[in-house]
Amino acid sequence: MLVALAYDGIVGYGEASLPPYLGESHHSVAAFYNKLHWDGFTYPFNIEEILAYVDQIAHGNTAAKAGIDIALHDLVGKLSERPCREIIGYSKTARNTSFTIGIDTLDMVKRKTQEAKNFHRLKIKLGADNDQEIIKSIREVTRVALCVDANQGWTDKYQALDQIEWMATQGIEFVEQPMPKSSIDAIAWLTARSPLPIIADEGVQRLADIPSAVGVYSGINIKLMKSTGIAEADKMIRLAKSLGLQTMLGCMTETSCAISAAAQLSSAVDWIDLDGNLLIDNDIFEGVKATEGLIQCNDLPGIGVVPFHDNLFSESIKP
Ligand code: MG
Repeated sequence: MLVALAYDGIVGYGEASLPPYLGESHHSVAAFYNKLHWDGFTYPFNIEEILAYVDQIAHGNTAAKAGIDIALHDLVGKLSERPCREIIGYSKTARNTSFTIGIDTLDMVKRKTQEAKNFHRLKIKLGADNDQEIIKSIREVTRVALCVDANQGWTDKYQALDQIEWMATQGIEFVEQPMPKSSIDAIAWLTARSPLPIIADEGVQRLADIPSAVGVYSGINIKLMKSTGIAEADKMIRLAKSLGLQTMLGCMTETSCAISAAAQLSSAVDWIDLDGNLLIDNDIFEGVKATEGLIQCNDLPGIGVVPFHDNLFSESIKP
């Protein structure tokens, strides 16, 4: 779902990305947006106040809220003629992003790995019954750095520790969400013994979840579609760091709109996983895109995106 917010003839773009398994849909986002009333706001610069209003409209709806947050940051950046990252206080440093290899047959996994030869880190989805076979197949064709995402797929903590100890011998950098997010005691046990950092994805959604991640996980994967957007993601990065947690910036399958928005925070985190716009063929924005595996923000104001078509949204937007 794409979002446009207009003020004084300037349009800011946002996006709510809606993976079906997370429960939001075009229908739920439209219903959420229909509840918003902008009459009380005459000025877009008070981002905190506007987002606090949006957040209390209804529980959940994190992607819908992110769509508004991103468009608002883009709008304010354009009105200020400054890149969003600069307004927040982050630098333009180019960073390597990982590229995701999904669960597939061993031959397909190998082929996808070879196709991704420009990337300096690959994120391997595990949680199948042949996880070690998958890693061995990948290691036959590349020595590049790997991280793994078990997507809550390992259920026994002793077996999970065995897997991770083996992974540590294979050049794996960290393990994302090894066990179900509800298995808090088991994950804390695992993290205390694991030779590799254990990163929360499903286990940490928003700012309020972070304090309870201390002692359970080594770090957290922050995604705009979970955090309700840039403003809270920024707070999450700062809080996580202050509590000694490592930080990673991730994404859903997204256009260059939401990826470019997340990239504004890329200089602040330990790992970048912003490959969502490389996995689609219907992108409607020119923006930040990994080339040779490297994420480099541009110098455009706001989140740095330009729609491919001038008339995008034109029928409904009256600046
Ligand atoms: Mg994940």
